[in-house]
Amino acid sequence: MDDCIFCKIAAHEIPSTVVYEDDLVMAFDDLNPQAPVHTLVIPKQHYANIVDGVPAETLAAMTHAIQEVAKAKGLDDGFRVIANTGAAAGQTVMHFHMHVLGGKDLGENLL
Ligand code: 5GP
Ligand code: ZN
Repeated sequence: MDDCIFCKIAAHEIPSTVVYEDDLVMAFDDLNPQAPVHTLVIPKQHYANIVDGVPAETLAAMTHAIQEVAKAKGLDDGFRVIANTGAAAGQTVMHFHMHVLGGKDLGENLL
């Protein structure tokens, strides 16, 4: 995807603060953090969202990346993972990503 900002971040064409990276996925800090820890986990391949045919291997790599983020950021007391899916859910970057939020008491569940 030529004009996709997260594809460019995955290709290191746009700088980001990388927390974890492997062949399939990358984790980097959000530009506009909503909590003391706010890291995004993305597949390096472009998928629009979590239901856009993401292979199981990639989903497993994303789960592993979330574990690595939790370790690196010391999120021992828990954290929240969010995947906004579609514009109506607030998704603004149409490259699948999971938000990992933590580092403070996040309060009540949203649901
Ligand atoms: P969404 O609303 O699509 O679920 O979340 C997109 C997230 O990407 C937002 O939290 C926004 O701050 C973040 N973001 C947008 N552009 C960039 C960027 O160029 N670099 C980084 N690190 N984060 C970005
Ligand atoms: Zn993309």
